[in-house]
Amino acid sequence: MIANKISEPIYITRPLLPDLGVISNSLHEIWESKRVTNNGAKERLLEQELKDYLGVEHLSLFNNGTLALLLGFRALGLKGEVITTPFTFPATVQALDWNGLTPVFCDVEPETMTIDATKIERLITEKTSAILGVHVFGNPCNVNKIQEIADKYQLKVIYDGAHAFGMKLDDKPISDYGDMTMFSFHATKLFNTIEGGALIFKDHRVASKLAMLKNFGLDGPENVILSGLNAKMNEVQAAIGLEVLKLVKEERGKRHAIKESYEQYLASIAGIRILTSSEKDNSSYQYFVIEINEEKYGRSRDWLHDELKRNNIFARKYFYPLCSGFSWYKGLESVNPDNLLQANAAVQRTLALPYYGDLGLELVQSICEIIKKGYKKTKQTSDM
Ligand SMILES: *Cc1c(COP(=O)(O)O)cnc(C)c1O
Repeated sequence: MIANKISEPIYITRPLLPDLGVISNSLHEIWESKRVTNNGAKERLLEQELKDYLGVEHLSLFNNGTLALLLGFRALGLKGEVITTPFTFPATVQALDWNGLTPVFCDVEPETMTIDATKIERLITEKTSAILGVHVFGNPCNVNKIQEIADKYQLKVIYDGAHAFGMKLDDKPISDYGDMTMFSFHATKLFNTIEGGALIFKDHRVASKLAMLKNFGLDGPENVILSGLNAKMNEVQAAIGLEVLKLVKEERGKRHAIKESYEQYLASIAGIRILTSSEKDNSSYQYFVIEINEEKYGRSRDWLHDELKRNNIFARKYFYPLCSGFSWYKGLESVNPDNLLQANAAVQRTLALPYYGDLGLELVQSICEIIKKGYKKTKQTSDM
């Protein structure tokens, strides 16, 4: 019994876009100024507004999150090996690759699916220069334990915070933990500039380095002192960001209602666990992700993914596949699945469901009914 037949394809997210008329006004200003990129007025304003919004001191904008991360590693002078998680989006580890850094894969915690801090220490060698954690689905890493290890071995700590924009942990901005945090402003992210990203960092000396690295290593018009890249945010991106930022609060409220509705419907289904942090003000409102326990639910994640698809719901296996399985890492000792048991389980069990403000509660109900209908009593469950 599906409440509403779903006629249009439903995807896991939809970009939060400002009114076109408002953007047209901003474009007008940019055209008038004739300054369309390279540290323009909109970029500087967005930088300031984001600092205020996030409550942080040092922030630098980029044309996407991947290049932000890539140049962040460079600015911190990372070398050799970086201990990280295989359960992430490819960008996290590809930013290491492009710096000639070797990822050392550490297993994840089954509860939060973030890097398992208790397994980091045994992976440290003399080549280790940093720990790179990911706040998966807005679940914060075990930041205190990670910092403790980093302090003991003098390692840098960097977080991929692509899912953690605006989050707080113990009343502090999440980016207060570690040396550096990256936020992605891709169209799929709650706060977006269509493509874009930012780094937040502790050491103020990193600011001038990043400014050069994202602009061809230029120090003034005639002085090239670093091997840089082009990773600047342009004025159109910044203008969109300034308008999207005004919509974030309302969007978070709408997503909160959707999240509550999902939580209510899914609570009674055996074998379905909600992975997105549930405390009210502490949610990132980025994704709504469930874990399917095949033994209890009676069906696999892949079955549910395909069943939803048959109903026009395009849920996503996220993250999938596991980064440690990439062909170019073959031969690395740390990709051995025996040491990545939880990560290998996670990648088979997680599914991101549609989640955006305008999804509507009726659709949430329909999606949950499909999930509920899929439940199949198994020997184990009926015996209990
Ligand atoms: C979105 C995302 C990125 C990539 O950011 P871009 O801005 O698209 O380059 C990196 N890591 C994670 C975990 C992400 O979700």
